[in-house]
This record gives sequence, structure tokens and C-alpha cells, in this order.
Amino acid sequence: MATDNLIAVLWDMDGTLVDTAELHFHAWVRICKEYGRDFTREDFTATFGKRNPEIIDYLFDGKIKGPDADKLGYQKEEYYRGESRKTGIELLPGVLNLLKSLNESGAKQAIGSSAPKGNLELILELTGIGKYMQAMVAMEDTQRGKPDPQVFLMGAEKLKIQPRRAVVVEDAIAGVQAAKAGGMKCVAVTFVGHHSAEKLKEAGADRVVKTLEDMSAEDFYKLAEG
Ligand SMILES: [Mg+2]
Repeated sequence: MATDNLIAVLWDMDGTLVDTAELHFHAWVRICKEYGRDFTREDFTATFGKRNPEIIDYLFDGKIKGPDADKLGYQKEEYYRGESRKTGIELLPGVLNLLKSLNESGAKQAIGSSAPKGNLELILELTGIGKYMQAMVAMEDTQRGKPDPQVFLMGAEKLKIQPRRAVVVEDAIAGVQAAKAGGMKCVAVTFVGHHSAEKLKEAGADRVVKTLEDMSAEDFYKLAEG
């Protein structure tokens, strides 16, 4: 395939490749308890998909900062990873087939996530999908969380593909907004169900599907070229 036909597929992780929401929820409950605070479902909704520095700021009114915030965030992720190892992580419907067929088609693929690098590496290890990814952008690589396009622009740059030839796969409104702000196409998935199809469309998603079983590699090329 000619170089100018190349496309990039940039994957959000949580809620798109895998569903780890409950594992994160319980890790936050556990760490917040140690710091003398409850962690409610409302807190979870308010902070879902954000980077730890912003979440900790929100939960503790900016009172835990710098190295103390880093330590809290690190411990929370340790709890999360420990639980993930214990219970195992499954890919969401359609994901594996799509990763394979996109890879066979010559598409370049990367993960663009608000999660820390250790979590991304663990997911790759537990699911075995690392061989389909040519790059990864994690929390530590960015200064600004979604809806800022930084994470996806860095992903496209690492793959050496123009943003306009990139298709982002997302499950959250902030992620769809990030993709569009970066001049990319966006497929939104509603399966895990934190955001409705209508809201994802409003945010600018070019296509909304229930699961990735509804998408083929060819659909991605059509989107990128459209
Ligand atoms: Mg997500």
C-alpha cells in the first residue's frame, strides 16, 4: 500500500478496548478511605476519564498537591492493577477482530489514554494486544487531558500519520471532542454505556455504534478518506 494511503487508528482504552470501570471505582473507594474521604458514584461520574492530577484536585479541593498527590495516585493505581491481575481483563466485543483486520490492512494503531503508562502496559500484557499497537500515549506523556486533543495529536505524530488521516475510537464525550478538536474522524461506541448515542453525536462523532462488531477495517478507511 502506498504511504499516502496509510491511516492511523487511535484507540481510547477504558470503555473502548476494555471495561475497567468497576475496578477503578473500587480502587478509588479504597484509597479515599485511607485518606479519610468517601468516594461515591457521583464522584466517579464527575471524574470519569480524567487524569489523576485533576481527579485528586477535585476530590481533595486542591489540598493534596505535588509529590503527595503523585503518591496517592500511584497507590490507587497499584490497587487497581492488583485487582486487575486477580480478576483478569477481557476485550470488549468486536475489538480483537478489528485490531487484527486493521493490522492486516496496514493501518497503524496506537493507544491514546488518560491512564498511567503502567495501566496501559498491564492491559496489553493481560489481553495480548500489544502486537497490534505501534505506539502508546499515556497520562505521563501529556499535560492536558481530553477534551484537549494533545493525546491524539501525539499518537498520530508517533505513528507519523497526518491527523486528518486518523480515526479515533472513543466511548466518552470528552474523547470525541478531543478527536474533533484535533481534526480527526471519530467512531464512538455505546456498549459500556456511560454516554448516550445522541450525546456522542452532538459532541461530533462521525459514526456511533453499539459495539465494534458493527465496524470493519474498510469502514475505517472510508471514514479517513471521507
Ligand atoms: Mg474511555
